[in-house]
Amino acid sequence: MTNPNPLLDFSGLPRFDAITAEHVTPAIDVLLAQARAKVAQLTSPETAVSWDSFVAPQDEISETLGRAWGIVSHLSNVVDTPELRTAFNANQPKVTEFWTELGQNEVLFDKFKQLQASAEYASLSPARKTIVEHAIRGFRLSGAELPEDKKERFGAIQEEHAAVSTRFSENVLDATNDYKLLVETEAELAGLPDDVKQAARAAAEKDGKSGYQFSLHFPSYYPILQFADQRALRETIYRANATKASEQGDAFSKKDEWDNSPNIVTLLKLRDEEAKMLGYKNFAEVSLVPKMAQSPEQVIAFLEDLARRARPYAEQDLAELRTFAKQELGLDELQAWDVPYASEKLQERRYAFSAQEVKQYFPEHKVIDGLFRLVQTLFSVNIVADTASTWHPSVRFYRIERDGQLVGQFYLDLYARAGKGGGAWMDDARGRRVHNGKLQTPVAYLTCNFTEPAVVDGVLQPALFTHDEVITLFHEFGHGLHHMLTQVDEISVSGISGVEWDAVELPSQFMENFCWEWDVLQHLTAHVTTGESLPRALYDKMLAAKNFQSGLQTLRQSEFSLLDMHLHYDYNPFGTQSVQELIDSVRRKFAIVIPPAYNRFQNSFGHIFSGGYSAGYYSYKWAEVLSADAYAAFEEAAALTGGVISAETGKRFQAEILAVGGSRPALESFKAFRGREPSIDALLRHSGMAA
Ligand SMILES: [Zn+2]
Repeated sequence: MTNPNPLLDFSGLPRFDAITAEHVTPAIDVLLAQARAKVAQLTSPETAVSWDSFVAPQDEISETLGRAWGIVSHLSNVVDTPELRTAFNANQPKVTEFWTELGQNEVLFDKFKQLQASAEYASLSPARKTIVEHAIRGFRLSGAELPEDKKERFGAIQEEHAAVSTRFSENVLDATNDYKLLVETEAELAGLPDDVKQAARAAAEKDGKSGYQFSLHFPSYYPILQFADQRALRETIYRANATKASEQGDAFSKKDEWDNSPNIVTLLKLRDEEAKMLGYKNFAEVSLVPKMAQSPEQVIAFLEDLARRARPYAEQDLAELRTFAKQELGLDELQAWDVPYASEKLQERRYAFSAQEVKQYFPEHKVIDGLFRLVQTLFSVNIVADTASTWHPSVRFYRIERDGQLVGQFYLDLYARAGKGGGAWMDDARGRRVHNGKLQTPVAYLTCNFTEPAVVDGVLQPALFTHDEVITLFHEFGHGLHHMLTQVDEISVSGISGVEWDAVELPSQFMENFCWEWDVLQHLTAHVTTGESLPRALYDKMLAAKNFQSGLQTLRQSEFSLLDMHLHYDYNPFGTQSVQELIDSVRRKFAIVIPPAYNRFQNSFGHIFSGGYSAGYYSYKWAEVLSADAYAAFEEAAALTGGVISAETGKRFQAEILAVGGSRPALESFKAFRGREPSIDALLRHSGMAA
């Protein structure tokens, strides 16, 4: 008797307590064989072209292979070990190969086209029609219409692309884990908050060293840039972070091995080749086919317009910062590693509060309670603690109920730790669907990288969140709500599935707005020692500071988005211009803060080289137009009723945006909620850049 493989158990939630790296290969092999058998059955002439006999059975493939592989990917993102990485890399090419085959299967493609032309099509629900349309579009983009002799090359491009983008993110993670900065005396850390020093001290102790140890994980390095009085220390960590995974990375033990520069060129070449094979002029056009934006020209015009509007505000921000740094901090020449530090000091001076002071009001339990309370009121649900096996003892699990009925569940993995990828994200563990008359409820992974609770003199302190971290939590929770509050029964377009990339940030960025509302903050804050909620005076200062340097930030986001667009629109990776030269030329046109020549931020720009945001980074700003405008509906309701936490508006937002998921175009959903086309006015007003 052998133990059944837990990765093949789809009866309930993933069995994280039982799954190990050695389960991966046998499970994926079984699932691939089953999936291929299923495809053979669906493509046989005996299988009728109808929704029930042909389309519905395909859900089983994404339900089994997709879910199991999703678990493996998730684990490799949150508890990376050498064994798991080996298993992931051994199986990823096989999985990619299968999806490529499926995407190019001409018989399936033909059957979808026949279904679209059949009498049955007219009787399908809008959600099902959308699925058929998406499938046909997907086949075209997967090369199904390519001549036979080109298909093999197309498949090879997909495989190589997947392998290189995995290597890209591994290099970033390895370099991040490799770098350690040991500071011997506390005197050198002047300016740093106590909790940051304690964490650095604990990190050194863990490695059997005395002193204070810093890494390139965000909660460790960023406070140095923000607070360290010693300029040389700021410069050291700035340079390390800016040269991570590049040929400039002298502070790393395997600089050449982890250099992502050749990987960037390879990825751009593969994307360009793919686009031309599909009959498009460039990869940006391919990227936009399934998106809300119509063309690269439309996106570039949107970004240039935003950059133009932000520029005068950004110039004012920078001039002010330079003057302050010179007069008050003695920094005659403001360098890149001075910007966060000088900004923090200017902000403290002008608004007379610090991020540290604010943080004392946001202990973890209060923030989580306040978030749940808000969501419960807005969307008429209950959120209660639940149990499930997890991948780490600090991970929690909850369920969402409405009228006593289970709506969805989520894992909450809050803290940064070794072996966990940086940043914050939401991913789906399982999607909503009705199968054989039975409802499957959605399950989400919510992952953040906040500072874990510290132990001081043997006593565990509550984790304290910065206001930025609270905003991040609300953001990811917004994605989670989109995934979990869906009412669509077809898995391919339920929740976030099938939603246009450039609209998918609508619910997440929408949720961020509530972190600035007095009514919400009352229930989100309790001072860690006094228990007092956020005082009005401090709130007023935070609000005054909200748009501090928003011109600079908007310009920077526009610059990153334009870099991404141009790399995929009019840059020739086979030509003589280097990636760095292209970046420099875009910066000369749009940026006002030029980083040092050694800066290689693109070498760890995972969004566009390993995260699916290629020719899509603009999506954040694009969706922010939508999210700000959607939030304005709550502000309008507040003007009438006195409160922004409007259950009535929340109900409409849920019905028109969250519940419908990807079952109809995002623009239609937006117009159904707002009663008109999106307008940029609310975004400009929220950013303090209204004319
Ligand atoms: Zn997001």
